[in-house]
Amino acid sequence: MSDFRSKIIEHISDTIRDVPDFPKPGIIFKDITPLLRDAQTLSMSRRLLVEPFAGQKIDLIVGLESRGFLFGPAMAMQLNAGFVPIRKPNKLPAKTLSASYQLEYGEDSVEIHTDSIIKGNRVLIHDDLIATGGTAAAATELVEKLGGTVVGYSFIIELEGLRGKNSLKKDAQYEALLSF
Ligand code: AMP
Repeated sequence: MSDFRSKIIEHISDTIRDVPDFPKPGIIFKDITPLLRDAQTLSMSRRLLVEPFAGQKIDLIVGLESRGFLFGPAMAMQLNAGFVPIRKPNKLPAKTLSASYQLEYGEDSVEIHTDSIIKGNRVLIHDDLIATGGTAAAATELVEKLGGTVVGYSFIIELEGLRGKNSLKKDAQYEALLSF
């Protein structure tokens, strides 16, 4: 990594705020709102998120609710791609496909509009953070069931110890700006 790139990444990393015991006891929430608030880290983050995929043929960025909606559309515009939201249950108005995944206790699910992916579409999945990888794996299942191909994953933050990467497609490009 160039000195310049690592300095910027360090600066972005310094803006992430740890909020202990949110949303429940024992969780250290990685809050990206200070990163978004600062003009320089906001635009640098978008630039660094897009850079590894520049020049590739990507048809769609699929963003995961809700913080995947913050950079997803901006990245899509720069990569000449469209944007598709994956949402929590009962939020999308038209016909949906749904996938469930395991949480520490219980189950959760996510949904996508069935007409949002066209067979053969090359898809980049984006979210602010990957923890266990359950959400991104469920998103992969939805995209591929509708005939799309997941060619990449993009996260601002990975919680490395939780090894979320292991639940994702091995042959897709994986990028995380910051590791904690
Ligand atoms: P997972 O499915 O376990 O990879 O969890 C990823 C999703 O949960 C993402 O949408 C994150 O925004 C959110 N998330 C999980 N853990 C954290 C955390 N420690 N701080 C902020 N967001 C989190």
